[in-house]
Amino acid sequence: MIFHILTIFPEFFEGPFAHGVVSRAASAGLVEMRIHNLRDWTTDRHKTVDDRPFGGGEGMVLKPAPIFEAVESIWPERPPERQDGRKVVLLSAQGRLFDQAMANRFSRESELLLVCGRYEGVDERVAEHLADDEISIGNYVLSGGELAAAVVIDAVARLVPGVLGNESSRAFESFQETGHSEGLLDCPHWTRPAEFRGWKVPEVLLNGNHEEIRRFRQRIAREKTTKLRPDLLEDAE
Ligand code: SAM
Repeated sequence: MIFHILTIFPEFFEGPFAHGVVSRAASAGLVEMRIHNLRDWTTDRHKTVDDRPFGGGEGMVLKPAPIFEAVESIWPERPPERQDGRKVVLLSAQGRLFDQAMANRFSRESELLLVCGRYEGVDERVAEHLADDEISIGNYVLSGGELAAAVVIDAVARLVPGVLGNESSRAFESFQETGHSEGLLDCPHWTRPAEFRGWKVPEVLLNGNHEEIRRFRQRIAREKTTKLRPDLLEDAE
């Protein structure tokens, strides 16, 4: 799967994909990151990407032309109906909330192009006439879309077939509809030592009875969800 990132800070992405699962997936050729500098699609000598907002007010707004031209040159043959496995995603505090179900859907595309906003945001014509999706990673305001893009790519890349060594492990993760979490939180995990500073690992995990362990995990996943994320239980019901 190919991830394109359109940004005014290409160097930002030297860090986030250099480690762990995503870095290994890139080395194995399962995913590829292509970082595009938005300023490459400007026409003036100052490489201007922003301008003042119509109607007045604070801050600057990213201009539509460089963004449209960038997407049109990255995907020159993209059909107008956009049903070809390539999606433009605008990162925005005003977008639909990104979640695991969305990550699963994105992982079935062949290419994603993530547009990172800055300043006061992006000219609304990008959301209206270019982006297939406008998404937010949470109810807070970041100073730019780059961190959000890195979050989305990390969550999607690990769902691309072959990226996680053990495909079945992902079924048991939080928010997945399969496995003991059933769309809720994953169960808590413990490792050696069996006793640490007087705190013991639940006995049932040490007895080797797989059916008991499965039921225990299902129960504590539910208990933890009730305690920390009751909203997920309400959604499930
Ligand atoms: N004026 C905007 C608002 O209040 O909704 C905030 C703009 S923010 C300072 C600049 C850029 O950061 C946005 O264009 C977007 O790309 C990114 N951004 C900020 N918060 C985000 C979030 N929660 N999820 C995704 N992107 C976000």
